[in-house]
Amino acid sequence: MPDRLSCPSCGATFADRWRCTCHSPLKFADRPLPDGPAPAPSDLDRDRGLWAFDDFLPVGREVTLGEGWTPLVPATEWDAAFKLEYVFPTGSFKDRGAATTLSRAVELGVDTVVEDSSGNAGAAIATYAARAGVDARIYVPAGVKASKLRAIERTGATPVRVEGSRETVTDACIEAVESGEGWYASHAWNPAFFAGTATVALEIAAQRGWSVPDAVVTPLGHGTLFLGAYRGFRALHDAGWTDRIPRLLGAQATGYAPIAEALHGPDEAEPNEVADGIQIREPVQRDAILNAVDETGGDVVALPEEAVDEELDRLHERGFYTEPTCAVAPAALRAFRERGVVGPDDDVVVALTGSGLKG
Ligand SMILES: [Zn+2]
Repeated sequence: MPDRLSCPSCGATFADRWRCTCHSPLKFADRPLPDGPAPAPSDLDRDRGLWAFDDFLPVGREVTLGEGWTPLVPATEWDAAFKLEYVFPTGSFKDRGAATTLSRAVELGVDTVVEDSSGNAGAAIATYAARAGVDARIYVPAGVKASKLRAIERTGATPVRVEGSRETVTDACIEAVESGEGWYASHAWNPAFFAGTATVALEIAAQRGWSVPDAVVTPLGHGTLFLGAYRGFRALHDAGWTDRIPRLLGAQATGYAPIAEALHGPDEAEPNEVADGIQIREPVQRDAILNAVDETGGDVVALPEEAVDEELDRLHERGFYTEPTCAVAPAALRAFRERGVVGPDDDVVVALTGSGLKG
């Protein structure tokens, strides 16, 4: 088996591993890019789902539920466009990464995948594992939302409930991976997952006729969508299909805001317990996230519970039936405007990441 993964820190290469021997996250050594100019967006084969962009994807189309091509709709009250990333088979953008991660698992001949999650990534991995005929064990916090736990259980996956913080859940999962329980299909570590989430950028650009917005706002926990968007926009630019990369703006929850604090200093605000999907104090890809902020002239802000609650009400009242975590992104847009980070003429796309149906 050829060495397909490489370490950006020490340069080691591997056929497959969940992280480098130096403990850094790994990347695909080969980064496919198309040769020719951008096709007319209408010539892309949307029936192939994410693989309409297979010239950009390092993983073949082994497992799919027709995901992708989520709507990009005007959001007049927010003076922005919303990318409806909750319009997916399991109701969250995590299906982008689950499709490519399970495709990679099938290419490798994996028979059991293991993942840790607050709910959405677990449901996505469990669902795509079911589609692939692969066993899944999903580590979740003991207090996981019942609707998310049910979504995992109904696929036939085995949920493993762990008492303690989100970090304790990850520690238990990694211990299981290290003891040979299965292949780590991690949305925080696995480069195949980020290859999938990168397609959000390809879709946004294609849906806008290959024009890039001034800024893109996403929630930011482990940076699964934030970094995916960065890598996708960078690949489009490197392929010569677009002329620039948007500023990437991240939305964190107060009390769980390591990136906002790295940029702006410590924040003593009360922990935001409403945005349960992004309670990540030690993001695996911290350096890569900070680099993406720096490279794009981006920024990151932390939002308290009240801002999220109010924004969620506004979203629901305007027909966007999303989960609380997802409301941090439009709430962040409001904060970025107040701080002058986003100007009145800026053309902004905001990702709405999770459905209210299992939120
Ligand atoms: Zn290394």
